[in-house]
Amino acid sequence: MGMHGAPVCRLCRREGEKLYLKGDRCYSRKCSVERRQYAPGQHGPNERQPKMTNYGIQLREKQKTRRIYGLRERQFRNYVEEAERQHGVTGENLLRILETRLDNVVYRAGFASSRSQARQLVNHCHFKVNGRRVNIPSFLVKQGDIVEVTANSRNIPAIMSALESAGAKATPGWLKLDANAFKAQVDALPTRDDIDTDVQESLIVEFYSR
Ligand code: SF4
Repeated sequence: MGMHGAPVCRLCRREGEKLYLKGDRCYSRKCSVERRQYAPGQHGPNERQPKMTNYGIQLREKQKTRRIYGLRERQFRNYVEEAERQHGVTGENLLRILETRLDNVVYRAGFASSRSQARQLVNHCHFKVNGRRVNIPSFLVKQGDIVEVTANSRNIPAIMSALESAGAKATPGWLKLDANAFKAQVDALPTRDDIDTDVQESLIVEFYSR
């Protein structure tokens, strides 16, 4: 059986919606969700969607969010537990933690065209935070932090082309990008309104409190 689109695209088709895992391809007509609006696999086109239970709905929302941010179950669960310990609304705390991961900040600022590419670039030591090299994708940024591409990495094609297409997309309000200086400052920690990830975070919290 032929593989339609990249393997990660199957994750989007499983969820029945775009999770934006492939960078520019996601915004083009090549996107597999746009071309085939049914689940992946041999039975995909004919698969009848059973009515979902509450548990099923919560599970799907959790899986979807975990896939968007590219996290393993254990790490995702740790973030939920951390969000529960913090003051405020647990679901919003969770999204704020996910958004402040260094790989997500690199992606949101426009230095990478997808979160997985951002993670790889961080792993390969292409970024500094407040002047010090950080190669840990799960590093959590704080208000006022400055994330920058290291001087030697500014001509990397992946970073240059991501920045070029980033010009067409809006940088989230909580990040201040200076593309010419290859820097982004965390102006404020993101609030729920700043985060355009299309998830219902309360369902995730319900899933883990069962
Ligand atoms: Fe693939 Fe991106 Fe479309 Fe998802 S949104 S199916 S990752 S192209």
